[in-house]
This record gives sequence, structure tokens and C-alpha cells, in this order.
Amino acid sequence: MSIAENLERVRAEIAAACAKAGRQPEDVKLLAVSKTWGPPAVAEAFRAGQRLFGENRVQEWEHKRADLHSLLGEGVGEMDVHLIGNLQSNKTSKAAWLFSAVDAVDSAKVARRLHDVCDQVGKVLPILIEVKLSDEETKQGVTAYALPGLLNAIQEMDGVEVRGLMTVPPYSDDPEDARPYFKQLRELRDAAEAETGMKLPELSMGMSHDFAVAIEEGSTCVRVGSAIFGTRTYAPKDEEDEA
Ligand SMILES: *Cc1c(COP(=O)(O)O)cnc(C)c1O
Repeated sequence: MSIAENLERVRAEIAAACAKAGRQPEDVKLLAVSKTWGPPAVAEAFRAGQRLFGENRVQEWEHKRADLHSLLGEGVGEMDVHLIGNLQSNKTSKAAWLFSAVDAVDSAKVARRLHDVCDQVGKVLPILIEVKLSDEETKQGVTAYALPGLLNAIQEMDGVEVRGLMTVPPYSDDPEDARPYFKQLRELRDAAEAETGMKLPELSMGMSHDFAVAIEEGSTCVRVGSAIFGTRTYAPKDEEDEA
């Protein structure tokens, strides 16, 4: 299967999940996770109409972006690329320039640094807060308990705008195992909106094997990598590294 065919299939599956849940397909964005894939694969997805992408490392995207410029020319400017990996505080200024959004903020420290960079130039960077709903030690994310406090702290920062929440449930072969986590993120969002008075419309949840379940539970953005690009070949250790 080509990347274009995979994209078409995934889009059809998103539409089917929306129909089942009584939702509109345009209410669910498809973010193509291109981490580890080289510029030719990303260019193929772009030529198949995909504009929203996710990368998990600042440096990797910086290098890829330069190469994509020679493949796509000014088209690169049309790409909407989100950072979906955890951000080290020493890379925040680069990240604020390279990405159109940062989807995995989990501390006031990182949010503050992004705010400082953006506020100086009068720009507002959309961010999502990553919430950790399981007790896996290796996972990033703020706890449900600490979320309202973090949101209140970030609310004061004009350079960033919290658009919603994201989560990565523990891996399981059965997508139904992820459902309680997706439901919990939605309920947490509803509670946080009531508690802080903020609007948090975005719920980034669902990956290649469980996005249909996530859409039934209210996802507004599914992050799909392997179902579009194929199986990634790199050591699992890398996946835990910070961006
Ligand atoms: C890699 C990654 C994905 C994509 O995973 P697939 O199973 O390949 O779809 C989604 N979200 C995050 C945060 C990731 O790091």
C-alpha cells in the first residue's frame, strides 16, 4: 500500500467512526505522525493532500524541514507541524519557531519558556497539556490532580494559549482497553473547564490502532503514524527520549 492509499483508508475509517458516533468528520483532525520517516515519505503524504503533521523531536524536524524545502519548495510553508514529544527546556526557543503548536506541555516551566519567546515577538503559540492517566513510570504528563493548578498558572501567560488536553494511554493490543482513558480525559476536560473558566475544545487522543474508539469518546485530533507510513524501525528506547 502506498502512503496515499493509506491516507485515504485512514480518512475513510475516521469518517466511519464519526458516523457511528453521530459526529461530523470535519470535527476530527488527522495529524500524520511522521517521526523517524525521511523527507520523501513526508513529501508523499503532502502531495496526497495531508497538511497536518506531528514530530516528536525538535532537531529531527529542523533537519527534515530543510530537506523538504528542496522537495516541496514553498509548499513547506503550508505544512502545519505540531511537536507531539516532550520538550526539554533548553530547546523551547527553537521549538517555538519551528512548530505551529506544541501538543505535549506538562509543566509550568516549559510553558513559561515558550511564553517568554512568543511574548517578545507578540505571537501566541497554541499548546495542549499532556495528561498522564496511568501510573507508568516512563510516561510524561501532568497528573489529573495537578491539572487545574497548572492550567491556572498558564492562563496568566499571554504568549501561549491552551487549546485542550492530550493523552497517550498504556499500550494494549485491544483498543477497547484504551476507552476508559479516553473517557477519563474528556471528563477531566469538562471538569477543568468548569473549575478554571477556560475553554478547552481540543482533545488529542487516539493513535493507529485505537483512533476509532477515541473518536467515539470525543477525540478532536487523532495522531496516526504507522497506519499511514508503515512500521517504524528504531529502538523502543528512542521513543522515550525527550525531544
Ligand atoms: C509515535 C506517536 C504516535 C503515533 O503512533 P502510531 O501507533 O504509529 O500511530 C502518536 N502519538 C504520539 C505522542 C507518538 O509519540
